[in-house]
Amino acid sequence: MNEIVRYKKINEIALITLNSPPVNGLNIAVRRKILSGFEQAINDNTVKAIIITSGCEIFCAGADINEFDDADKMFAKPSLPEICLILEESKKTIIAAINGTAFGGGLELAMACDYRMAAPKAKMALPEVNLGIIPGAGGTQRLPRLGGVRLALEMITSGKPIDATQALSTGLVDHIHEGEEDFITAAVNYANELIFQDVPLKSCAQIKVNTDEIPENYFADFRASIARRTRGFYAPERCIQAIEAACSLPLEEGLKKELELAIDCLDTSQARAQQHLFFAERASGKIPGIDPKTRLRQIEKVAIIGSGTMGGGIAMNYLNAGIETIILDLNSEALERGIGFIEKNYAISAKKGRMTPEQVTQRMALLQSTTNYDDLREVDLVVEAVFENMDIKKKVFQALDKICKPGAILATNTSTLDVNEIAHATSRPEDVIGLHFFSPANVMRLLEVVRGKKTADDVILTTLKMAKMIHKVPVVVGVCFGFVGNRMIEPYIRETFRLMLEGASPEQIDTAITDFGFAMGPCSMSDMAGIDVGYLVREAQRERISRDPSYQIIGDKLYELGRYGQKTSRGFYIYEDREKHNDPEIIKICENLAEELGIERREITDKEIIERCVYMLINEGAHILEEGIAYRSGDCDLIYTNGYGFPIWRGGPMQYADEIGPEKIVSAINHYHKSLGTYGEMWFSPAPLLQRLANEGKKLKDLRNIK
Ligand code: NAD
Repeated sequence: MNEIVRYKKINEIALITLNSPPVNGLNIAVRRKILSGFEQAINDNTVKAIIITSGCEIFCAGADINEFDDADKMFAKPSLPEICLILEESKKTIIAAINGTAFGGGLELAMACDYRMAAPKAKMALPEVNLGIIPGAGGTQRLPRLGGVRLALEMITSGKPIDATQALSTGLVDHIHEGEEDFITAAVNYANELIFQDVPLKSCAQIKVNTDEIPENYFADFRASIARRTRGFYAPERCIQAIEAACSLPLEEGLKKELELAIDCLDTSQARAQQHLFFAERASGKIPGIDPKTRLRQIEKVAIIGSGTMGGGIAMNYLNAGIETIILDLNSEALERGIGFIEKNYAISAKKGRMTPEQVTQRMALLQSTTNYDDLREVDLVVEAVFENMDIKKKVFQALDKICKPGAILATNTSTLDVNEIAHATSRPEDVIGLHFFSPANVMRLLEVVRGKKTADDVILTTLKMAKMIHKVPVVVGVCFGFVGNRMIEPYIRETFRLMLEGASPEQIDTAITDFGFAMGPCSMSDMAGIDVGYLVREAQRERISRDPSYQIIGDKLYELGRYGQKTSRGFYIYEDREKHNDPEIIKICENLAEELGIERREITDKEIIERCVYMLINEGAHILEEGIAYRSGDCDLIYTNGYGFPIWRGGPMQYADEIGPEKIVSAINHYHKSLGTYGEMWFSPAPLLQRLANEGKKLKDLRNIK
């Protein structure tokens, strides 16, 4: 029978099996069935113990995400907190038999049972904090009682999973199934054993949180230890307060406090932002016009062309995933340097205890290097990362076209060049795609997957799957200068550089932007990326930007002075022994440039900095959406939160625009159009899409798959 929750009796044991694939989401129908199963077991005098388990691959992933934006359904009776209370007050022993992942409400359900038994592969987590909320069905109160304060703080504020062994060692689970028999049989045997031993009911209401081993100032120290990671986030502090309450209050009162804090988080811009990103990530794999059932290509062996800054980092991703990788560089010294870079990185990881020496050996054994294209005959995927020069890239792709086997995917890591033009240098443009990794490529999670005009559907879907294997967040984008990320950053940098001429200092701009929540300010970012890199990009665009004599002129000036940023120890700032210092000379340079260009210097407010930099970045995003270069506003947000340090708790630039309202952005842009004179007229015009949304009172996320 295809019941979403099955009820079965095996002698004196009642088995309640959640059977609502794929993840046993605890929607109202499932909740009702769990409760009715429980009541049936309670009313049956022959039942001595009850097992709650799952018929799916995982135990239960918690709340049903389809109920996220339907509070009526989410809180409809019986709600999860109510079910947990009912289970806890049961006079019959209840055992949660955790066969696989138990996340969020799934773990809260298990914690309301008397005993927990887990399969060795089971994983447990309370990931609510990643959605801007806190566990609301007793998680913050029961976890410290069962697993201790330390575990509760770590799990609840990070949202990260623990495995069955750790759960056993902390007391969160009571037993791990290790025998030969199948899991359900083992669970029934375990239940029978508990009945035989006449074990007591083990309700959390009777357990006091053990605070004996918690040092004084423990909570304050813990807060300090996560302060950097959680800067700007609202929910982690509420998680801590709920756990603090668990230490001093009886369960019933602690649950009330948890509910209060949970409600406090629920209707916040942060919860909306983080949930938006959660859904955006799920949606990003659905590509308009492509059948998700398309058969994928096999990727077993990968080649990287170019062993420079990017090549080495890209190679590490594949080695880490256990994929055979070959690096090719025409310059044997560069090749050696690249391999040395990989070795050094692994040595550092091993020293820090993140990898064992055996793992390092295993990974290095997967790596080969060559200067000969003939060695690439067998590879399934090539990622080219040679110099950013169209002629060189075309030659590389012509060589690959001759050597690589039919069906091999040929990818370019170009940041600015036309992927269609590169594809047409080959006889198989359908196999060509852009894979835009970000630097450092072994660390940054973002991967822009650039869909060329002719890129085959299976090439796109295969690269998306491959991206997940190497733990990236892939976002499919179309071909244009800078794709999505770098194209949106252009007006942001343009305004940053112009604001310095108008009177703001690098420090003021960086502080305003980091106070807004960005990981780094634009001046520090330019110093890190290299003033020379920006200059070379502008060189290729002089015609387009020549109408504005002030266009990023401060960048050109620094380039002329050889101040390339961190790499020369001087850019917008001075760098000494890894420390950054303000440079009064920058102000002087800006004053001179402003005078030459007839720009009046004045006090600049932080509000103006945010509006001009961030709103213009959003405006470019709206152009990109209208042109179909990005499919959804959420795709732009994934790119910005994973690749550009945009605050996650604001949900990305487009979600931020939705939160404050497109009309506010349009009106600010119109304001600067007027107030900034010729400069304003040149650059400040609302994107038509944004204007339309503002007129109609709609949001960017109301647009679905614009094409
Ligand atoms: P790099 O100069 O550090 O390395 C390029 C390597 O390519 C050199 O080792 C060079 O010897 C090798 N090479 C040149 N021509 C070759 C050929 N014909 N065959 C084989 N090898 C050849 O460059 P990089 O910074 O690693 O950038 C590589 C690519 O990645 C560029 O397209 C760049 O736009 C892109 N990219 C760079 C970054 C970044 O932050 N550096 C970020 C994203 C994308």
